[in-house]
Amino acid sequence: MTKLTYLNEPGVLYNLKRRYALNEIYTYTGSILIAVNPFTRLPHLYNEYMMEQYKGVQLGELSPHVFAMLNDSMSQSILVSGESGAGKTETTKLIMRYLTYVGGRAVLDDRSVEQQVLESNPLLEAFGNAKTVRNDNSSRFGKFVEIQFDTSGRISGAAIRTYLLERSRVVQITDPERNFHCFYQLCASGKDAELYKLGHASTFHYLNQSKTYELEGINNEDEYWKTKRAMDIVGISRSDQDAIFRTLAAILHLGNIEFSPGKDSDSSKIKDSTSNFHLQMTATLLMCDPDVLVSSLCTRSIHTNEGIIIKELDCAAAAANRDALAKTVYARLFDWLVENINKSIGQDVDSKAQIGVLDIYGFESFKHNSFEQFCINFANEKLQQHFNEHVFKMEQEEYKSEKINWSYIEFIDNQDMLDLIEKKPIGIIALLDEACMFPKSTHATFASKMFRNLSSHPRLEKTKFSETDFTISHYAGKVTYQTDSFLEKNRDYIVAEHCNLLSSSRCSLVSGLFSSLPEESLRSSYKFSSVASRFKQQLQALMETLSSTEPHYVRCVKPNSVNRPQLFENQSVLHQLRCGGVLEAVRISLAGYPTRRTYAEFVDRFGVLVPELMFGSHDERALTEAVLEKMKLNNFQLGRNKVFLRAGQIAILDVRRAEV
Ligand code: ATP
Ligand code: MG
Repeated sequence: MTKLTYLNEPGVLYNLKRRYALNEIYTYTGSILIAVNPFTRLPHLYNEYMMEQYKGVQLGELSPHVFAMLNDSMSQSILVSGESGAGKTETTKLIMRYLTYVGGRAVLDDRSVEQQVLESNPLLEAFGNAKTVRNDNSSRFGKFVEIQFDTSGRISGAAIRTYLLERSRVVQITDPERNFHCFYQLCASGKDAELYKLGHASTFHYLNQSKTYELEGINNEDEYWKTKRAMDIVGISRSDQDAIFRTLAAILHLGNIEFSPGKDSDSSKIKDSTSNFHLQMTATLLMCDPDVLVSSLCTRSIHTNEGIIIKELDCAAAAANRDALAKTVYARLFDWLVENINKSIGQDVDSKAQIGVLDIYGFESFKHNSFEQFCINFANEKLQQHFNEHVFKMEQEEYKSEKINWSYIEFIDNQDMLDLIEKKPIGIIALLDEACMFPKSTHATFASKMFRNLSSHPRLEKTKFSETDFTISHYAGKVTYQTDSFLEKNRDYIVAEHCNLLSSSRCSLVSGLFSSLPEESLRSSYKFSSVASRFKQQLQALMETLSSTEPHYVRCVKPNSVNRPQLFENQSVLHQLRCGGVLEAVRISLAGYPTRRTYAEFVDRFGVLVPELMFGSHDERALTEAVLEKMKLNNFQLGRNKVFLRAGQIAILDVRRAEV
């Protein structure tokens, strides 16, 4: 891209489109790799021959490729972003496969670290991915995988961190989407499903809210066995596997429990014999007392100064309570899986080198945007800042410190945006948390307080037609958020009754999920913990990790909305390039000097091009200049300690060096 003579949006777009038509799906713009989803298998791009080719090769020497992103520095990260269906997860898996290839042993046994790292993917996908309108295998969580290498360059450990699982999906889906894959796999598992008295997926409320049960080209039963196999390889014991699937089955039965009014309409009871069957099944599978289950569904104890009061719940409240229980159990089960995959693979605390790969939801802007989009876009603002800092600030600062000529390019700094969202005590998250702590708050009181406190912020606007919607001018465009369910979605509380019920389970895996009852929950009837604040902390930790690494950026692009090969929709691609900061990066790369080397490094590599001078008394800077002049390159810059090269110049030098 940086070699284009006319650099403008149409030029960039045309270039990508032409390359895409030739199945050249990868294109560099400076050091960013753009990957356009081919929506068809391109095995020749990823086979062993290709992996061998890219091994140890410097970026720029071979055609653009995800395999070419890494160099030999000790600590690197690859940040993969893009909208849903753009190919982030596939790209991440290709990178991981390449890493296990270059950092693997010649002969792999099934339980090798490499194999465990690879198999963590299908396992997490079974529990964290689902069909959405955009993608049949959409990741409903963010993921950062750090792969560790020992002194001999072999993989010696790995650590997986996950972010913000979309837990509402467990209890609510709309056609043609699906719940998490694992539920359909389990229902199709034959004997195992019978064991847990599971019928077809369509017999369960949590699955039949959408009439989509199958995925094109996928067999649910085969997938079940693949998931089990992945569990074997990752090192999850058979008895834990049983407990996991038993818990999943319990969630499905739980969802089928219905309520009818009890003695009066303010109370509720289990509706009928069918519901009672599912109740008994839930209790049996979770290995807990069915009577305690009933009371934890239909009542709530409230701690007051006078003591504990038992409050009856009406049917709607009982159903909401049931769903809260299902979500909590599922979310904790997911965390358990991640934790145990990590334990099983093991971390190498003395690792010599680490490579992290981030697969996280890209910027989202829909017709209706809620709390989830708010969190996702917040994450993208954070990543954008990281991107800005590295690609823009760092470049400029280095030019400055090296005292080379450089006309500054303005870049968009989004610190004011992050202040709006995360600053304490007056930022959107802080105000939301405050609202969540007061029982009387509503989304309307939250919105009005937000507007009162932040009205002067240039990036926040009220909308014309609603008192409670707000619009934020993100780096990638304006997004209007509906605050209706913000409070409810930000509250991550564990009902004390649920905790008591499950911690008394005779199944150690289930009771382990609920082992500690938080101190506060003994006083109030539940403990409030903020989803947004927790996410903010996780992002902060992620940013700290990323800052200590050398970043590489992959921007995945979805060429069309119908997931078809060889179809390229200009408008949508252009929008994605803008959102990903690609166009600014093109501009800066072209104007700047993407390659830089210390004089010592440069002479070390290219001194061979001036053999006649090598034994004289030249200093390294003079030698560097001599090489470049001899090769007839111009427009480079000689800084205080480093030489700065224009895009493409290093490749020319490499070719000449190879000829020597
Ligand atoms: P989400 O945000 O919803 O998780 P995503 O960006 O992770 O989306 P993927 O699941 O990686 O998207 O890709 C969607 C689909 O696109 C894949 O299931 C696959 O069919 C196709 N695809 C993506 N990348 C490639 C590739 N490099 N080669 C072939 N097909 C690909
Ligand atoms: Mg994905």
